Amino acid sequence: MRFDIITIFPALFDSLFSAGVIKKASEKKLIEINIHDLRDYTTDKHRQVDDRPYGGLEGMVLKPEPIFRAVEEIRQPGKVHTCLLSPQGKTFNSVLAEKLAKYQQLILICGRYEGVDERVAEYLVDEEISIGDYILTGGELAAAVVVEAVSRFVPGVVGKGESVQHDSFTTGRLDFPQYTRPREFRGYRVPSVLFSGDHKKIARWRLKKALEKTMIRRPDLLKSRKLSPEEEELLSEIKKERKDS
Ligand code: SAM
Repeated sequence: MRFDIITIFPALFDSLFSAGVIKKASEKKLIEINIHDLRDYTTDKHRQVDDRPYGGLEGMVLKPEPIFRAVEEIRQPGKVHTCLLSPQGKTFNSVLAEKLAKYQQLILICGRYEGVDERVAEYLVDEEISIGDYILTGGELAAAVVVEAVSRFVPGVVGKGESVQHDSFTTGRLDFPQYTRPREFRGYRVPSVLFSGDHKKIARWRLKKALEKTMIRRPDLLKSRKLSPEEEELLSEIKKERKDS
């Protein structure tokens, strides 16, 4: 899968993708990340990418011409999706990340200043994406979030040892608690079931813990889907235990 990020600050990405899972995936050519300087798509000698907003007000707005030119030059044949990072967009989540991972090319446009000329949102992009209800100074961090979350759904990027299968949200619930050595730390013990060697029992305990955490912290996740009979059974058990304690 190919990602193309359009930005006026390409240097911001220098270290972001140069470590860990994303670096390995790029080396294995499972993903390709290209960073494009928006100024390279200007035609004037000042390489101007922004201008004052029509109608007055402070600040600057990113101009439409270099952005249209950049997307039109970068776009490859095949299944392409073009997104503008914007706080006014659809809120990014795991379902959207998985959906975006099906495209061959994802073009991400990073806004800056007061935002981007509205014609980009209206006539150029397929979708506007927000990473949450807060305002960043630019779309670069948001684009990096999208690249990382989408890449995890590209086959082969996350190895078997670090499977996405039980990740929070992929399962429709939060992940179960994880522990590692030492078995006891400052008197805090790892739950004994994890040493039982009984894989069925461990799987059921993990599912129960995941459900309990989800019920307390994110009940909306459980309400938005059909639960399996085992989940229903465990949830009743959890509710009863909490009532009795
Ligand atoms: N005036 C704009 C508004 O209120 O909608 C905010 C502009 S913001 C300072 C500059 C750029 O940062 C935006 O064009 C967008 O690309 C990016 N940005 C800011 N917050 C974001 C968010 N929550 N999600 C995605 N991108 C964001």
